[in-house]
Formats: sequence, C-alpha cells, structure tokens
Amino acid sequence: MRFYGIYIPMLNLVIILGDKKVTVEEGCLSLLGVSDVALKSLHVKVVDSIHTQQREYRAPISIIIQHEVDHLDGVLFIDRGIR
Ligand SMILES: [Zn+2]
Repeated sequence: MRFYGIYIPMLNLVIILGDKKVTVEEGCLSLLGVSDVALKSLHVKVVDSIHTQQREYRAPISIIIQHEVDHLDGVLFIDRGIR
C-alpha cells in the first residue's frame, strides 16, 4: 500500500477494526465521479506475513487500509454506503 508517497508492504494482511467509528465521504478510482458516505473505524490494527509485530494505524491511514482491504475482498465503497 502507498501512503503519502511511501510504500508500506503488507502481505496476507488481516485487520482488526477499532470500536470508534467515523463517517467519511468516500470515492474510488474504480468509480470515477461517484462518492458515498460510509462508516469507518478510526483505528485499525494490522497483522500480516511480512512484519513480526502487529501495527496500529489511525485515520486517515486506517481508512485507506479499510478501503484497500475491501478491494481485496471484492467489496466497493458503494457496498458499504449509508447515504
Ligand atoms: Zn478504491
């Protein structure tokens, strides 16, 4: 995954969603010109095959991770839209 010009390699990742949620306006390069509102966790913990320790990310990185993991699971932001 790429965050602010820095690549953070993640392999076979599993995310653990934090309890605190936030409403975000979301879009995607897969659906240009479309946006929706979704509920996302403010924090996520990430476990993957590359890193030996669990890492924690907060928004906005946590929201990007949730978006990209959804892509890996075949889910688009419009599937989670609450608008
Ligand atoms: Zn996307």
